[in-house]
Amino acid sequence: MTRIAFIGVGNMGRGMAANQVKAGHDVRAFDLSAPALAHAVEAGCRPAASIAEAVREAEAVITMLPAGSHVRQAYGQDILPHAAQGALLIDCSTIDVESARGVAGQAAEAGFRFADAPVSGGVVGADAGTLAFMVGCRDEHFAAVEAALRPMARAVIHAGGAGAGQAAKICNNMLLGVSMLGTCEAFVLAEKLGLSWERFFEIASESSGQCWSLTTNCPVPGPIPSSPANRDYAAGFATAMMLKDLKLAQAAAAAAGAATPMGAQAEALYALFEAQGHGGKDFSAVIQMLRGRLGELT
Ligand code: NAD
Repeated sequence: MTRIAFIGVGNMGRGMAANQVKAGHDVRAFDLSAPALAHAVEAGCRPAASIAEAVREAEAVITMLPAGSHVRQAYGQDILPHAAQGALLIDCSTIDVESARGVAGQAAEAGFRFADAPVSGGVVGADAGTLAFMVGCRDEHFAAVEAALRPMARAVIHAGGAGAGQAAKICNNMLLGVSMLGTCEAFVLAEKLGLSWERFFEIASESSGQCWSLTTNCPVPGPIPSSPANRDYAAGFATAMMLKDLKLAQAAAAAAGAATPMGAQAEALYALFEAQGHGGKDFSAVIQMLRGRLGELT
């Protein structure tokens, strides 16, 4: 049994912390939101009154927070000053590469092992314990990080040194945003050309257009019964989350001098879609904007 501090038990953190409890660990949870903390307690976590209290005796500290500013603040003000010597620190939030590297540097200076370990798999994966973790940490720390993440994971992959996990995450999600928009455009064109969605799906899914956006998260109802399109585009992976990741990718591309014109287009289109009030819809719902059928979204 490991003593774990879990900071941020929202949509993702709740299920992740519950899976650590199920694995037999002693989980001390803290969240600024009282209802979020209450859910974690229902799942078997012990509540803490502050981050400092949660981390004081923890052997591992896991954070699952909204953005880079929250992570920088939590580490700077509460975790690094109060965590027990030798604690393993893992940030699973999706944040910018610079913040991840900054926190990693501060943690190393303070004598801690630290990893950035963002996830893929969404709330369903968090609840089921089937997330994919992309880990940025020193080689010699990876085995401990992998062991700590295992109760929440389908896969734990070492991406490289500090910040490499976040780099992998935003590259993957930029590819996902672009591939979803391409998939949506193909369905819109197929419809205009008189090709049924079902027939186009049948052909493209066996052809070179095949991708996750088509065969798992299909943006039209029918071909894949479990895709969000069949339930009025209830997320799934919300547009606002996709936009957040595309913005991170564009900021990173600008800083690194990478040409990512398709990523830039994807960011612009998802920003436009969100501005129409659909940030909470699954990101595949953008097809209704491309079809000129925004009015059909509830
Ligand atoms: P969420 O908003 O549901 O949860 C974040 C929680 O952090 C909230 O409960 C909030 O109250 C809490 N919080 C904020 N500041 C805090 C602080 N200083 N101390 C303690 N708690 C604090 O968000 P989420 O959907 O759980 O996402 C968390 C992270 O996971 C984000 O970085 C997101 O990009 C990433 N992510 C989300 C998904 C998804 O499908 N939801 C998928 C992959 C990655």
